[in-house]
Amino acid sequence: MASKERNKKHNKKENGHSRNYIKANLVCAFCTGGKTPNYKDWETLSHFLSDRGKILGRGRSGVCAKHQRRLTQAIKRARHLALLPFVISPQ
Ligand SMILES: [Zn+2]
Repeated sequence: MASKERNKKHNKKENGHSRNYIKANLVCAFCTGGKTPNYKDWETLSHFLSDRGKILGRGRSGVCAKHQRRLTQAIKRARHLALLPFVISPQ
């Protein structure tokens, strides 16, 4: 709930600015789903990577601060086990 309020504030602040990306729905997928990020669940984690394999920030994915910390750790563990790529090179 606290994260939703923060997101609203964040949007207000950015109203005058133009960003080169479209905001996601900004509701934490892990809070609503009642799950926590797990390194074994690489298919879910792959939704939070950019097309170059970088971890998306909270502003783009809408994940709350608590779950972003766990998500980052889970993605790094999955990379170490070669479940996720460190980098995706353009073809
Ligand atoms: Zn969350």
